[in-house]
Amino acid sequence: MVTPIIGRILNSRSTTLDLSQKHLRICPDLICQLRKLEKVILTNNELNELPDDFGNLKQLQLLDIAGNEFQILPVQIQHLPNLKKVLAYRNKIKNLPPGIFGGLKSLTVLNLNKNELHRIPAEIGGLINLKYFSAEHNHLTGLPEELCQLQQLEVLHVGYNSLVTFPENLGSLQNLNELYIHRNHLEELPKSISKCIQLTVLDVASNNLNIFPVEFDKLHLKRFHYECNPLLQSDLNPSYRDEDIFPLKELVVRFFMNEMKRHYPLQWSSMKERKEVQQILEKGNHCVICKGFHLNIHFKCATFFNAKKGLKTQTPKGPIPMLILLCSAQCFKNRSSFSISPDIDINLVSGDTTNIP
Ligand SMILES: [Zn+2]
Repeated sequence: MVTPIIGRILNSRSTTLDLSQKHLRICPDLICQLRKLEKVILTNNELNELPDDFGNLKQLQLLDIAGNEFQILPVQIQHLPNLKKVLAYRNKIKNLPPGIFGGLKSLTVLNLNKNELHRIPAEIGGLINLKYFSAEHNHLTGLPEELCQLQQLEVLHVGYNSLVTFPENLGSLQNLNELYIHRNHLEELPKSISKCIQLTVLDVASNNLNIFPVEFDKLHLKRFHYECNPLLQSDLNPSYRDEDIFPLKELVVRFFMNEMKRHYPLQWSSMKERKEVQQILEKGNHCVICKGFHLNIHFKCATFFNAKKGLKTQTPKGPIPMLILLCSAQCFKNRSSFSISPDIDINLVSGDTTNIP
């Protein structure tokens, strides 16, 4: 039934082969002779593998195998250096074979929605041109940190999974524009999300979030969905601590950082270029009240801000709890005597000193 179609392509200048909805169980080997093909569409068949020589289609830019019976993403695609789009949603893919992403330097779109994936291999970090990645409706419990190497990534869909953690370096995705992580089991978002300066759409609905990370209000979201999370309410327990007792390391680092900044600004600027100092700074924070540096010990508080005012979002639904970190119980007690940045409507309601390793 499909041989005449392939024959027509063979004798024409067409660069597209569309064999969708042909009840195919086996993909004809003859396809591999159509070396000028740029698009192969095999959607809605019953295929579970591609011919061994499929890698001969060196001009291929689009492979659409959605709605089939594949259990493994076909390894032959690693030999297709011009492949830009792979649409493999609605299959039964459990495995992404090792090394499969190695040759896909042109890939910009990868859609693996509605499969049976439990993990994404670290090699995904090699897809240096990937702009759109979607793996919704799978069984993912985590994502590799290497995902954050995808510097061109603009859209990430990983909703409807079982994610309990999210890569800490999310903030290094400087081109990320849309992030969909709804319907997972996340209890917190990475602190670095506030560095995703291009982010305009964020969907975190139906997770286990109770507070948003420090400086979350720096984002300029146009669409923000956060319903169905057990968000903090404002009736928290007040702090019971009166005095601060800090270990020596914490005191020394605080003293050194603050003194350098205050009295030796030039040396401080050049020191900040050093990798070891940057690593220390990344672990620490500045107190919202006194602006002083603190390293491992944080006095965790919640502030509630208005989504409409703070995020400029079109979907405000009330006050959003955001984590703020103070250096000490002393600053918590003194909060009313300090003037605080006017763009945050600070409403400190709870204190709890926490040692973050
Ligand atoms: Zn302070």
